[in-house]
Amino acid sequence: MNEKLVEFLHGKEVLKELRKLTAAGQKSLTVEFERLLNFNMKLAKALLDSPADFFAAADKILSDITKLPRMRLRVCGLDQSIKIRKIRAEQVGRFTQVEGMLKRVGEIKPELRVAIFKCRRCGEEQEVEQINEVYREPLLCANPNCGKRGPFDLVVENSEFRDWQSLVLQERPEELRGGQIPRLLSMVVKDDFVDKAVPGNRVVVTGTLRVFQERDQRERKTTFRKVLYVSHIEVLQKGIEEAELSPEDEARIKELAKDPWLRNMIIQSIAPSIYGYDPVKEAIALQLFGCDPVELPDGTRIRGDTHILLTGDPGVAKSVLLKWVANVAPRGLYTSGKKATGAGLTASAVRDEFGGGWTLEAGALVIADGGIACVDEFEKMSDEDRSAILESLEQQTISVAKAGIVATLNTRTAVIAACNPKFGRFERNRTTAEQIALDPVILSRFDALFIMRDEPRAERDRTIAHHILELHRDPTRALKPPLDPETLRKMIIYSRRDVHPKFKDKEVLKVIEDFFVKWRSTAEGGVAPIPITARQLEALVRLSKANARMRLSDEVTVEDANRSINLIKLSLQEAGIDPESGKVDIDILMTGVSRSQRSKIDRVLDIIRDLEGRYGGVAPVDEVKRIAGEEGIKEKFVENMIEAEKLRGHLYEPKPGMVSRAVK
Ligand code: ADP
Ligand code: MG
Repeated sequence: MNEKLVEFLHGKEVLKELRKLTAAGQKSLTVEFERLLNFNMKLAKALLDSPADFFAAADKILSDITKLPRMRLRVCGLDQSIKIRKIRAEQVGRFTQVEGMLKRVGEIKPELRVAIFKCRRCGEEQEVEQINEVYREPLLCANPNCGKRGPFDLVVENSEFRDWQSLVLQERPEELRGGQIPRLLSMVVKDDFVDKAVPGNRVVVTGTLRVFQERDQRERKTTFRKVLYVSHIEVLQKGIEEAELSPEDEARIKELAKDPWLRNMIIQSIAPSIYGYDPVKEAIALQLFGCDPVELPDGTRIRGDTHILLTGDPGVAKSVLLKWVANVAPRGLYTSGKKATGAGLTASAVRDEFGGGWTLEAGALVIADGGIACVDEFEKMSDEDRSAILESLEQQTISVAKAGIVATLNTRTAVIAACNPKFGRFERNRTTAEQIALDPVILSRFDALFIMRDEPRAERDRTIAHHILELHRDPTRALKPPLDPETLRKMIIYSRRDVHPKFKDKEVLKVIEDFFVKWRSTAEGGVAPIPITARQLEALVRLSKANARMRLSDEVTVEDANRSINLIKLSLQEAGIDPESGKVDIDILMTGVSRSQRSKIDRVLDIIRDLEGRYGGVAPVDEVKRIAGEEGIKEKFVENMIEAEKLRGHLYEPKPGMVSRAVK
């Protein structure tokens, strides 16, 4: 093998490449497996069968050629990747290729490569190369006059270290169907290949599968842990879903695009086992098709993904809807906010059970990058997620700076979340914002918000009962959606690749603009800061484009815009009803306070300000209540409002029974 290897690496082409690489300061040479195979079959086979020997020899030859002690050979591009869940004992010690998504990336550690030891008796220094993971000391002192068994001290400053990093690879979510739990594979990368990828990246990795004996307390066991020692790692840009589309599929989809009822067919095909909820299904359809993000010349990016929030009584099929979406959406992922273990929704730094230290672990939104994350029990997310979720919903990245790890991960993920009302069930006489157990700031990140109430209504109940019972009687006949899930999935993949709707007709923009202005005028005098409603405008644009894409058309029409407006109106109507005035009030939804309440709050704050003037900077609460009472504002309201404003930091209590404004 060695002669062939020398011949290969001294080949004209390779030498030329090496000169270029070293000039550019590169520390490794990457070779396609195909090239080795074409050069010499036996050599290629030697790599597959005994990669450890192969690379030891290759690295030595390269170092000799380049005079760089750490030049390395890396091989990529095997014909076939093996699935993580298919890795078996026979792969141990062999050169293997796997594909997956990076779940965890550890901190970069220095690993001892060539150690310098000093004999404590005579002071003689000697080198010990560290191979494999076990720390090796010299057996005997190299000084012939000493020759003792040490003891030796490691001279850290003269020893040589290399970069070392542990990774965990996970099966790609798009390969898992029907709720399979993803399998994991530990990996190690070294030298110039550390930090090539971040959690959430889809990668193809080649390497040598090695095993380490497991221990139980102090006993050694006969089972081993497997670790892939990485030779080459490549970050993939495109999804593999596109491979699912055959030319026949494309032809069929183009045929479907001619059907004027396509949009309705799609909406009817969303979760057909669930009766009703047409607006919710329409929103889900739009989310599935989505639209392209807008990249501005200054580098700003406006997201194209639509986020949906379903809030509702228990047993109204929220979870069933979410699971359906996770199943059909390319790169769909179902998770629960409540999950106690793992990285949660965003990302977290976790203890590395294998290498020690900290690793960065990707959460659900990172793993579903490029797809849809379906998050059930959203209100139960951890505090850590709560602080990171805002960035990930809007900017679609997560910045992590924890335990010495600094990284930005992509979360270009559409989110459909479900949450339960704060008091278990919806109550008519409370505002929606009061009953959704989420921060209004998080709420405002959702483009469409639906309240699913479970109210007995004889006629509807009979139809639902009929629908459900029919399903049980004959599941295949009752469930005949116009488009089966596989076709729908293919349409989504196709349209996301080939259909890019644009606003060509000025009239369309005018329709959206008029609606927005009219809508804003109803909110005039309210307290909603302008960015909140500008966000709704962006939501409208997104939904309009998605409507066009759903029809497989590149042009957004007036009808697309009107449909989106209707949907947004519907989604806000029920959600934003102000129980005091009975009117639709967007403020109530976005800030948690209705306009009629807001004006009362402002009035009480005015009273406090006046009293502060009279009482030397503080206002007696009893006095505030008395004056407010004269204006018809109830005592209970004043009490609640003072408590709430104290929590928000606008008011504080300098002495019992007194309040002051924090900012005067
Ligand atoms: P939730 O998550 O909202 O608490 P689930 O998704 O667990 O509720 O739904 C409870 C059950 O009720 C499911 O089996 C679902 O199929 C059924 N169900 C509720 N509403 C409907 C409906 N409108 N049509 C068909 N099935 C329904
Ligand atoms: Mg549920």
